[in-house]
Amino acid sequence: METAKKDIRALTKEQLREFFVNNGDQAFRGNQVYEWLWNKAAYTFEDMTNISKETRQMLEENFVINHIKVDQMQRSNDGTIKNAVRLHDGLIVESVLIPTAKRTTACVSSQVGCSLDCKFCATARLKRMRNLNPDEIFDQVVAIDRESRLYFDRPLSNIVFMGMGEPLMNYNNVLKAIDKITSPEGLGMSPKRIVVSTSGVPKMIKKMADDEVKFGLAVSLHSAIDEVRTSIMPFNATFPLKDLREALEYWYSKTKNTITYEYVVWDGINDTKNDADALIQFCKFAPSKVNLIEYNPIDDGEFQQANSQALDMYISMLEKNNITVTVRRSRGKDIDAACGQLANKS
Ligand code: SAH
Repeated sequence: METAKKDIRALTKEQLREFFVNNGDQAFRGNQVYEWLWNKAAYTFEDMTNISKETRQMLEENFVINHIKVDQMQRSNDGTIKNAVRLHDGLIVESVLIPTAKRTTACVSSQVGCSLDCKFCATARLKRMRNLNPDEIFDQVVAIDRESRLYFDRPLSNIVFMGMGEPLMNYNNVLKAIDKITSPEGLGMSPKRIVVSTSGVPKMIKKMADDEVKFGLAVSLHSAIDEVRTSIMPFNATFPLKDLREALEYWYSKTKNTITYEYVVWDGINDTKNDADALIQFCKFAPSKVNLIEYNPIDDGEFQQANSQALDMYISMLEKNNITVTVRRSRGKDIDAACGQLANKS
C-alpha cells in the first residue's frame, strides 16, 4: 500500500543526523540508524536493538523502510536461483544468483522493464515502467547475499548489472546503489567485483569516465557493423558505433581498464569472417575481452545460435589479434533466468 510517510532510506546520512538534532536527540543517533539501514540492511525499526524503544517508535511514526520482498524464488537444476522481487508499489523485477565453484555472482536489475528494443531480448518486450531506486537495487544484492550464505555457505562475491533494464539510463541511482554496496559504512564490497553492462550510451560512458568510477564496464556489442547492429538493436541508429567507439576511447584513456564486450553469434546475422573482422577492428584500440554468450531462445525462432564452426572462427580470429575471448555457457535456462530471459514469467 502507498503511504504518505517518507522512505527513510531516501535520506542522506547528513539529513538523518539533522533529523535527530531537530527532534532533540544527538546527531550521532543518525549514524547509528544509518549503520542499521546500510551496513546491517535492517528491514524494520524493531531490528535496531541499540536504539531505544521510544526512538524506534518515533521513527516508525515518521518513516517507512520500503524494502523489497522476494515474492517467489525458483531454483535451476544447475544451482542458479531466480528471485521475483516485489517492489513497494507492487511492480516486479527479477534478479539472479549464479553460483560457480569459487564465486557467487548476483545479476541485478536496474529498471522495471526496459526502454530499449533489442530484438533478441525478452525484457525488451516489457514496457519500461520506472527506474529502480538505489535502495531497491541495494536490496536485490542483500537478498542474494543472504541466499548465498544460506544455500552455498559463503557470501556473495560479484555483482553484474545484467538484469532487467539499461543501467546507464538510470545512472544516478545505479551509482548511489553502488556507493552503498561498496562503502565501508555499507556492505563494503570491492568495486572491482562489480560490472555494469550497457547497450552503449556514449554520453554516459564518458560521464562514468569523468566520475572516475572504480567498477568494470561491459558493452553489449553483438555487431560492429552499423547496419547489422541497428537491425537487431534499433537504438544503434541514435547511438551509432562511431559515437560508441569514441566514448570507449575516452573511457580507456581515463581508466586504462580492459573493456569487456558481450557478443552473441547468430546464424545468418553476424556469423561471417567479415563480421568477426569488424569486431576486431572495433575493439583492438584497447585491451579487450570478448565474451561470446550462448543465445537463449526467447521466441519463435527468428534468432538461432550460430554453429560451432562460426564460433571457432571468431575464437581463432580474436586470439590471433591478441583479444581475450571466453565462451560463456548459459546458466539457469530451465527457469528462464539466463541472459535476456528475464520477463517476469515466474
Ligand atoms: N541493458 C544492458 C543490461 C542487460 S545485460 C545491456 O544491454 O548490456 C543482459 C545481457 O544479455 C546483454 O549483453 C544482452 O545483450 C544479453 N542478451 C539479451 N538477450 C539475450 C538472449 N536472448 N540470449 C543471450 N544473451 C542475451
